[in-house]
Amino acid sequence: MINEYVSRKVALKDMQPCAICSKPSTTVLYNASGPDWLYTCDIHLQDNPQFAIPIYSKEYNDAVGRLKEVKRKINTLTSSQNQLGSWDGWVTRIFSKNDKEKKDNSESPEPAPVEPADAPLEAKKDAETLVEIQAMYGKILDEVTQLQGKNRKYELAKIMFESRVQRKKTEQLNRERYRKEQENYSNTDPEELLQKHVFPSVPQHGKQ
Ligand SMILES: [Zn+2]
Repeated sequence: MINEYVSRKVALKDMQPCAICSKPSTTVLYNASGPDWLYTCDIHLQDNPQFAIPIYSKEYNDAVGRLKEVKRKINTLTSSQNQLGSWDGWVTRIFSKNDKEKKDNSESPEPAPVEPADAPLEAKKDAETLVEIQAMYGKILDEVTQLQGKNRKYELAKIMFESRVQRKKTEQLNRERYRKEQENYSNTDPEELLQKHVFPSVPQHGKQ
């Protein structure tokens, strides 16, 4: 059995106790390779690596990669902005200079320069790029959050999974014993045998 579980919803009538806190839950982690399954509250699936760790899609990992790349660009631009004076500082300087020039212009016929002399062209370009990149960062972050919310695959924490494997083995042994008992005591009432061995039933898909 491989350590890969998919979270599914079952109908309200099929609720079963959560494996962690025993509260009735409609969420089941299902492992087709077992098959194995356990019910859990949704809350235990969030930031709970002692229990389950999300297995994200390639799409999600790619988006995270792009996010990191953009973050690096922002950091580079921000540090170069800091060297040339911060974006905010630069904006403030343009406004104060324009105010000063307006006053000056009332006495002088010379037209005001379009670009303030103390705002390096490079800094202005960087500031524009930074605004664009920050918008891009926000967009990718939304995408990452969305993909994160869509994830249904989990792996169980090592100890947790080992106990599931152990449980599975015991269950298989029980089944085997049941089969042998059936063979050896073919005269025994099958209903009686069934009652002695209660097997869990595979969870049914809910409407979700
Ligand atoms: Zn719970």
